[in-house]
Amino acid sequence: MDFRYTEEQEAFRSEVRHFIHEALPSHWLGVDPGPEEEEREEVHRLAVEIWRKLGGKGWIGLSWPKEYGGQDDPVKDWILKEELIYWGAPGMDIGVVQGDLILAFGTEEQKRRFIPPIARGEVKYAIGMSEPGVGSDMFALQLRAVEEEACYVLNGQKIWNSGIHRADWCVVYARTDPNAPKKHLGISVFIIDPKSPGITLRRITQMTGLAAFCEVFYDNVRVPKENLLGEKNKGKDVSMHAFAIERSYGLVILHNARRYFEQLVQYCKETYVNGQPLANDPVIRSSLAELAIEIEVGRNMGDRLNWMGGQNMLTVLPSCQTKVHGACVAQRVASVGMQILGLYGQLDEKSKWVQLGGRLRHMYLSSRGWSLAGGTSEISRNIIAGKYGLGLPS
Ligand SMILES: Cc1cc2nc3c(=O)[nH]c(=O)nc-3n(C[C@H](O)[C@H](O)[C@H](O)COP(=O)(O)OP(=O)(O)OC[C@H]3O[C@@H](n4cnc5c(N)ncnc54)[C@H](O)[C@@H]3O)c2cc1C
Repeated sequence: MDFRYTEEQEAFRSEVRHFIHEALPSHWLGVDPGPEEEEREEVHRLAVEIWRKLGGKGWIGLSWPKEYGGQDDPVKDWILKEELIYWGAPGMDIGVVQGDLILAFGTEEQKRRFIPPIARGEVKYAIGMSEPGVGSDMFALQLRAVEEEACYVLNGQKIWNSGIHRADWCVVYARTDPNAPKKHLGISVFIIDPKSPGITLRRITQMTGLAAFCEVFYDNVRVPKENLLGEKNKGKDVSMHAFAIERSYGLVILHNARRYFEQLVQYCKETYVNGQPLANDPVIRSSLAELAIEIEVGRNMGDRLNWMGGQNMLTVLPSCQTKVHGACVAQRVASVGMQILGLYGQLDEKSKWVQLGGRLRHMYLSSRGWSLAGGTSEISRNIIAGKYGLGLPS
């Protein structure tokens, strides 16, 4: 087996790295801003700028067909994503995932309307799936959509919608048939403008201090019929496809953790405690060696997943495997990092004693959510145990 990339692909990787280093400020530590509003604004401004530059280079949706602004090149697509994630650059936008969905389920008119602005980096997307009490069991969702003459009227609530306060569009899952014999048969999907009359957003502050999520309240929100994505009451198919794509989020987590891990190794090489280098500590050496193995396993799983995706093969099983593994590895990197840094690990970025820019503390807190986002690890393990993997009865 030959896992190497071609010369042309490696040249593209170098071009991407060059682009990232030019685009990011020299003090850049990662995509998550500090908790202050002006820091968030600064990161948002940079994210919009980079997103537009990526669009200008034709690098958004590289795997999409050329007629919709892509380059039909899945390998380049994952090289770009890997580099953006590794360097903590903004640009891995939810819009790309929603573009994949629109390509799979949209009408020709919807593809022509919604895809090119994503490919040009002009619009931001959010996802409206979860509701209070409705997460893993998403087919129990209650947001109601009633069909009227030219539109659907939505009433109810969503929660945990990442970035919707900045988004131009949100792909929202709603109940169109409350009397369907099975609850998954009565769901439809809509592409909604979050600034529509009747929508109220309430920011949720996370334990990291960020406020990246919103609760979303729908009060008689009118959505034009042409914004229905896929067939009415067939939203289950869209959601299954969305979950399959979102579970490749495991790769995002893994490449993000890989950079932290490398910084941690460097820190151990350079840091002395009581005159002894940390790198000589047998417990630290063993922990880092374990992590190095897990990261390498994850990279191989990720390459396989990407390759299968590029061949249009069914990726339910490798996506779930990569998602579970990626979240576990990232959480372990954060835990080992916090143990190595000791009390320094708890300092925030503004302390003069802070180590590694305070990033591990942030990662430790945010990594808790990585086994939930895009479907929980428990649900992924259930899928691996079931018909796509071990064949155990459900
Ligand atoms: C960083 C982050 C970003 C997110 N972004 C979005 C977003 O943009 N849009 C959006 O709509 N949602 C978003 N979410 C919400 C996310 O999709 C849900 O948190 C997730 O689906 C789990 O739902 P829940 O929180 O209601 O937990 P629950 O489903 O209530 O689960 C609670 C616990 O029970 C376990 N559990 C539940 N059912 C089973 C079962 N059948 N077998 C075994 N264990 C089970 C779960 O694994 C979990 O550990 C985000 C979440 C995070 C953390």
